[in-house]
Parts: sequence; structure tokens; C-alpha cells
Amino acid sequence: MSGFTLQDQSTLHSHVRSELPHTVSRQAIIDTGMHYLNAIGTDPICSVCIHSGGSCCNGCSHLASGSGCQLRNTSCTAWLCGFLKYVLYETRSLKHWYEYWDQVPGQDYRTDTTPDYVFLEKILYMPNLNELCEALAADLKELVRTHPAIGFIFTLREKLDKNIDRYMDSNGDPAIEKNSKRNIKILSSHFHHFHRALNEFRRQQS
Ligand code: SF4
Ligand code: SF4
Repeated sequence: MSGFTLQDQSTLHSHVRSELPHTVSRQAIIDTGMHYLNAIGTDPICSVCIHSGGSCCNGCSHLASGSGCQLRNTSCTAWLCGFLKYVLYETRSLKHWYEYWDQVPGQDYRTDTTPDYVFLEKILYMPNLNELCEALAADLKELVRTHPAIGFIFTLREKLDKNIDRYMDSNGDPAIEKNSKRNIKILSSHFHHFHRALNEFRRQQS
């Protein structure tokens, strides 16, 4: 789980870089992951989610009220919910994220057995996705307002998550790819601000 609390975001180390020495400490790997998520601008999305009661840290024994996560680990840092996964999926950054974390052993649920030092061959490049994240946060805020049924955006988050996983695990199977892409398109049809920002992002990339 990405495991954000709003407090955690303010304590990220701005000096953490994604450069390789080949052997990297477990803590530096966690810092790099947190720095990446902070740098690409995921905070506004988490803010809407947390304020709507959907934090991925809910119910975790390592969460201390007012001071956030007390046991930051590689697993929660590597984990992405459907919303964050969706931003990386649309910007073709998701595979790169997975390739980085595939190098890190010992990931488990809300804990890890990652060794103190890990040999890394790949670094993590950080695209600037701030405007896209802000746009998605604006869409989610709007959805919370217009769809007051409890859990609407969280159902959307889970469905996005499931379909993006299917797409990423399709091994090039055209039928699975086509089906999951179509589902993601339908699920994301609510994200008007995001799609405008995405068009602009793609225009600048081309
Ligand atoms: S260990 Fe618990 S509190 Fe910490 S990031 Fe993971 S889920 Fe959140
Ligand atoms: S948006 Fe995702 S990562 Fe952020 S708090 Fe919600 S579930 Fe966790």
C-alpha cells in the first residue's frame, strides 16, 4: 500500500534521489518510492480519498492517530491503489514502476522481510504528473459530491484496479487486452478533468 497519511507527505525527504549506487539500503528504497509518489503529485488524490473515508491504511495496527504510519515498509510503498495505478497506466509509467519494485524482495502484506541492502539494476525515473493528479483529484471530488452513495468512488477504484491488473497480466493476449482496455475506458469516462489534462500531457510528449 502506498499508505499515505497527510502528515507523511510533509515529512518526505526532498534530497532523496533515484540514482544508483548498485547496492541500496532498504530505507533508501522506501524513501525513493515515497519521493516518487510525492514528486508525481499523488497527494491531492489521496487527500480526497482519505477525507471520504477510503484510506488504504484504514484498520492497520501500524497507523498512529495524528502521526501516521509507524512501520513504513517496502510493500506498502510499492503497492498502488486503482486511482494511482490508473494515472501510471494512462501515462505509460506503470510497467516502469513494477520493474523497479520487482527488484525488491521480501514484500508482504503491510510488512516486509526486505534485506537491509538490496542490489538494484534499474532506477526509477520520475515523470511530472502533477497536473494529471490534480485533475483526477478534481474529478473524484466532483464524483463524491454528485454520487453521495457511500463507496461509489471506492467501487470505481477497485474496478479500475482489477481491470488494470488484467491488462498488465494479459501477456499480450489480444482478447484480454481489448476487453480490459474497454472496461478501463468505460470506468474512467467520469474523469473529465483528467482526460483534458491527459490530452495536453500527450500533446506535450509527442
Ligand atoms: S504499514 Fe499500515 S499504516 Fe503503514 S503504510 Fe502500510 S497500511 Fe499504512
Ligand atoms: S488514493 Fe489510494 S493510495 Fe491514496 S489513500 Fe486512497 S487508497 Fe491509499
